[in-house]
Amino acid sequence: MKGFLIDNSKCIGCRACMVACKQWNNLTASKPVFFSGPGYQNPRDLDANNFTLITYNELETGGRMNWVFGNRRCMHCNDPGCASACPVKALEKTPEGAVYWNAWKCIGCRYCMFACPYHIPTFEWRSANPEIRKCTMCYDRMKVGMVPSCAKVCPTGAILFGERADLVAEAESRLRNNPSAYVHQIYGKDEVGGTCVLILSEAPFDQLGYPTDLPKRSLPSYTAQAMEAIPGVVVGLGLVLGITYKLINRRGEVAAAGEKGGRA
Ligand code: SF4
Ligand code: SF4
Ligand code: SF4
Repeated sequence: MKGFLIDNSKCIGCRACMVACKQWNNLTASKPVFFSGPGYQNPRDLDANNFTLITYNELETGGRMNWVFGNRRCMHCNDPGCASACPVKALEKTPEGAVYWNAWKCIGCRYCMFACPYHIPTFEWRSANPEIRKCTMCYDRMKVGMVPSCAKVCPTGAILFGERADLVAEAESRLRNNPSAYVHQIYGKDEVGGTCVLILSEAPFDQLGYPTDLPKRSLPSYTAQAMEAIPGVVVGLGLVLGITYKLINRRGEVAAAGEKGGRA
């Protein structure tokens, strides 16, 4: 299974990855907007025209204020909540690792938006024929042996593409060999059952806008557990409702028979 290792400490904020992503995915430019934090990036957040976003954060690291860059995109979860919530299987976890979105299957219900713990899928609110949009790990490039465009253009090696297991080993080695350079965590290694995007950072992840209150278990595993519990409850409730219905019916029959002076 493939994935990315994103080392934010190597990012220089050039945004070549954002431009390459737009070029490959045929996304139009975005008009800058003014807003007051958090972050100094533009656009402010991911949207239907921006599948990846470099965030600009002014934070204290190493005893002084520094620019610290974050990198937001679909995390390509190992067991994705978006795919599990989609009623028509428009989102699928591919064997290669990418969570791919099939435009022709999507009915625009937006359940995937609510089910994603990273708030990633976006919607083309201004389109007459709106679609869900997000990073596909450049699945079309991957299928023909090419590297995703963001990883291809990054001039500093801040985005590595490869086998997830190798990337975990590489991240562990960086943490081991240079512990003072990083927060001691591989973000994405365990969150919500693990993701194919792994992130290293020099600043605490919550200060860069990454959700840090996520469970280790995948979200669909909670749903599966709840569904296992449902049959008993439903059967029990069905029985109670059935018996109640019978009793009420029976009372009606008895009353009606009583009025006629017969036996019910
Ligand atoms: S291309 Fe690389 S260095 Fe430039 S902003 Fe993207 S991740 Fe950072
Ligand atoms: S980050 Fe969100 S959109 Fe991406 S695979 Fe995970 S649940 Fe789906
Ligand atoms: S993998 Fe492709 S679609 Fe995803 S952020 Fe990189 S360039 Fe964009």
